[in-house]
Amino acid sequence: MPATNPTLPTLGAGDDTRVVPSPEGRHDKESTAVRVLVVEDEARLAKTLKVGLAAEGFVVVTADNGTDGLWLATEDQFDVVVLDIMLPGLSGYEVLRRMRAASVWTPVLMLTAKDGDYEQADAFDLGADDYLTKPFSFIVLTARLRALLRRGAPERPAILAAGDLSLDPARRSVHRGEVPITLTPREFGLLEYLMRNKDIAVTKTQILQHVWDAHYAGPDNVVEVYMGYLRRKIDTPFGTTTIETVRGVGYRLGSDSNGR
Ligand code: CA
Repeated sequence: MPATNPTLPTLGAGDDTRVVPSPEGRHDKESTAVRVLVVEDEARLAKTLKVGLAAEGFVVVTADNGTDGLWLATEDQFDVVVLDIMLPGLSGYEVLRRMRAASVWTPVLMLTAKDGDYEQADAFDLGADDYLTKPFSFIVLTARLRALLRRGAPERPAILAAGDLSLDPARRSVHRGEVPITLTPREFGLLEYLMRNKDIAVTKTQILQHVWDAHYAGPDNVVEVYMGYLRRKIDTPFGTTTIETVRGVGYRLGSDSNGR
């Protein structure tokens, strides 16, 4: 058991009851109050968060599915969003991806259902600003929300570049010069990891841990296989060698030796 104060309720450990969408709260307007959007389909948890955060002085609007959550996040103004991952309609991942693609930079705290590196890495890769693993304590949630509010809206994440290869984490797009390159989500994750570690040799183990699940138990050669897929998309058609194999270590992404 995590060390939590036994007098405080631990949230999010309960059932996953579906409820009818409730528009209440959409018209709360107080210009000075901090506005929080809570996108959570577990009715009891959503209600507890709404009541608890309201008692802390927040104006709380709730949505119980991803579609409504995305609509509210993009059409209305919020200071911070609490976003569950497993949602009916659109997943929390998809809500976040579409928010960022629409240039909505409201800070997002994601609620993850399991304590998995993969989900946390995913949440951060997609532009979440923080995450909490269920079950969590209300005190921790409010502390994290206040920290996010102090930090303010995040800057649009910088476009990563290596020579003329560019990757836009917000738009999930990759280009070689002006040529768009279509990657699968895993290939994109692999390229983003390599570009974030540009000019540094990374091991297969590091790649597996960051791009796959820390507990990945599939074939050992999955990294080589995906490196092959990636090279056939970002290097082979352009005659470049952006991804180098570092013998005995792993891989390194740099600018191509021709300066590209
Ligand atoms: Ca859920």
